[in-house]
Amino acid sequence: MREIDAQAEADGHSIEYADMLLLRFGEFILKGKNRSRFEKTVFRHVKEMVKPYPNVNLSKEFGRIYIELNGEPAEELITALKNVFGIASISPVKVARSEFEDILSVSRTFLKIIAPAAGTSFKVNARRVWKGFPHGSLEMNKLISTPLLQGYPGLLVDVKSPQLEMKIEIREEHTYIFCENIAGVGGFPLGTNGKAMLLLSGGIDSPVAGWSSMRRGLEVECVHFYSYPYTSELARQKVVDLTRVLSRYAGTIKLHLVPFTEVQTSFTGIGQDNLIITLMRRAMLRIATKLAEQEGALALVTGESLGQVASQTLSSMNVIGRATALPLLRPLIMMDKSDIVGLSQTIGTYELSILPYEDCCTLFVPKSPTTNPNLRIVDKIEATLPGYSALLDAAAAGTEKVIITPYGNEKPSDVVTAEAGLQEEWF
Ligand code: ATP
Ligand code: MG
Repeated sequence: MREIDAQAEADGHSIEYADMLLLRFGEFILKGKNRSRFEKTVFRHVKEMVKPYPNVNLSKEFGRIYIELNGEPAEELITALKNVFGIASISPVKVARSEFEDILSVSRTFLKIIAPAAGTSFKVNARRVWKGFPHGSLEMNKLISTPLLQGYPGLLVDVKSPQLEMKIEIREEHTYIFCENIAGVGGFPLGTNGKAMLLLSGGIDSPVAGWSSMRRGLEVECVHFYSYPYTSELARQKVVDLTRVLSRYAGTIKLHLVPFTEVQTSFTGIGQDNLIITLMRRAMLRIATKLAEQEGALALVTGESLGQVASQTLSSMNVIGRATALPLLRPLIMMDKSDIVGLSQTIGTYELSILPYEDCCTLFVPKSPTTNPNLRIVDKIEATLPGYSALLDAAAAGTEKVIITPYGNEKPSDVVTAEAGLQEEWF
């Protein structure tokens, strides 16, 4: 998109010429029932994203969605629609009646607005989808390009790899004229691959892991562990705000806020400070597993990346991961930090993530956390901690659940359910 914007700027035009946006579906080229379910999900997601623009008109056809703009801003809508998972590309389109004279006239106007610089290589690529149209595709290429080239003597013809390819798609209802193909975010439509619980800290990594999971079609609920009063109200707000950014990609997200102080402080007196992080991570996984069972989620997601810190060595992950029987998904496991930072900037979570509020994991952190915990010792500590399992149950039971939307006004999830459920509207 940036490239195309730059090109548009250089050419002195914007995409506001468009009457319509043409959205193409992404990689989920599945057959039969699944395909139609996936397409319906994308359509619902698109419908949600265009809600602030009341004049647009949506329609769906095999493999694509049309959005008639009726004066709504193309640029703004494209920015929003680039967040919709399952959309592979977006073209701003000028629409003509499917009659030769009108197609030629709109093509002329289109070229005038695009105003290609002298020396630009050019080609018309017509496709007659509607066989009732009197001229074939090849014939139309000639019939349209000849008068256009006469009007623009500076254009050079290049049929192999032109800088400007004017596509003309002739259908019965309308003819679509376009030259840009703006990349969408791709991936799978939201929620079509099931649901997972994302362990969301206030850091850089876990929001990116959440976005990556949603892009693969997972519905995500967020779980955050806080240790009030050791962590502040601001730290909690940061996580609410991060979830709100993620909800731009999902419509609504359920956030579980787990009181973790008691569990965490239960580890401090046992004289094994170098194992505290290991114990804390395992406790988080156990509580998140309980919440997953309540919510019908089939996996846990974390922002771990191999070797990044002591708890993310293979040996640590081996001991920590055994605390849950659910699949533990780590979308960032093989990524470099710089790439993760780049993604967090692109999806809009970076600026929030770098705010300096304490996370519960940075409290009581030992000087030298182990990179190689011993599973037998960890198991034994947990088995002998008095009332440990009741502590975990109490943390899960004391969890506050909030539905977060992109627009603020978050509500406790039971209120939302009583109001007939924002969630249900989605899935
Ligand atoms: P992040 O940037 O996501 O905080 P990190 O590199 O700082 O990751 P850790 O702090 O070791 O790594 O945490 C590893 C993972 O454990 C996080 O990515 C997140 O999924 C989970 N996690 C850590 N702290 C919390 C928390 N307070 N609440 C929920 N999940 C957490
Ligand atoms: Mg962290």
